[in-house]
Amino acid sequence: MRHIADITLEHLAGLKRVGFWRSDRESSLPDPSALVDEAWDVAERERVIAYLESSFFVPVAQGGPSWCRFGCSPRPADIGTQDLTDGTWVFPEGLVHYVRSHGVKLPAEFLEHIRQHEFRVRELPVLRENGEPDGAANGSQPIRSETNRTSSAAGSRR
Ligand SMILES: [Zn+2]
Repeated sequence: MRHIADITLEHLAGLKRVGFWRSDRESSLPDPSALVDEAWDVAERERVIAYLESSFFVPVAQGGPSWCRFGCSPRPADIGTQDLTDGTWVFPEGLVHYVRSHGVKLPAEFLEHIRQHEFRVRELPVLRENGEPDGAANGSQPIRSETNRTSSAAGSRR
C-alpha cells in the first residue's frame, strides 16, 4: 500500500522531474526508447524497481491515465495514473513499468541519488494512509489538512 506524502505544492514544484516522456505537447522531453539498457545490472534494477514501488503518491492528482510508449496493449496495470515522489524527485507511477518491462535505465543523477540512499525511500510526512489521491470522493477522507495547507501556502506569499 502506498502512502500520500504531505508535502506542499511549493515543495512539489521544486522537485526534480524524471520519467516524463516526449509527447506532441512536450517535445523537449526524452524518448524512453533512447534509455533502454539491457546490460544494466539485474540485481540493481530489481532494487530500483522496489524503490520506485515504495515511493509516495503526491498529494495532487496531476497525472491522469498514461499509456506505454512501447505500445503495450492492453494498457499495462503498472503504467499507473498518478505521480510519485521520494521527497527529492517526482516521477510518474508508470516509470516502474519502463524499468521492469522494457529495460529502461534511469538517468545517472537519479540512479546515484537512489544508491546514496541505499535503495530505501526516506520517510516523508504522510497526508493519508491509503490509495489513490483522487479516488472515490466519498467524503470520508480527512480534508482538513489539505485545507490548512492550501490556505497557509497562499498566506505565506503575502
Ligand atoms: Zn510497456
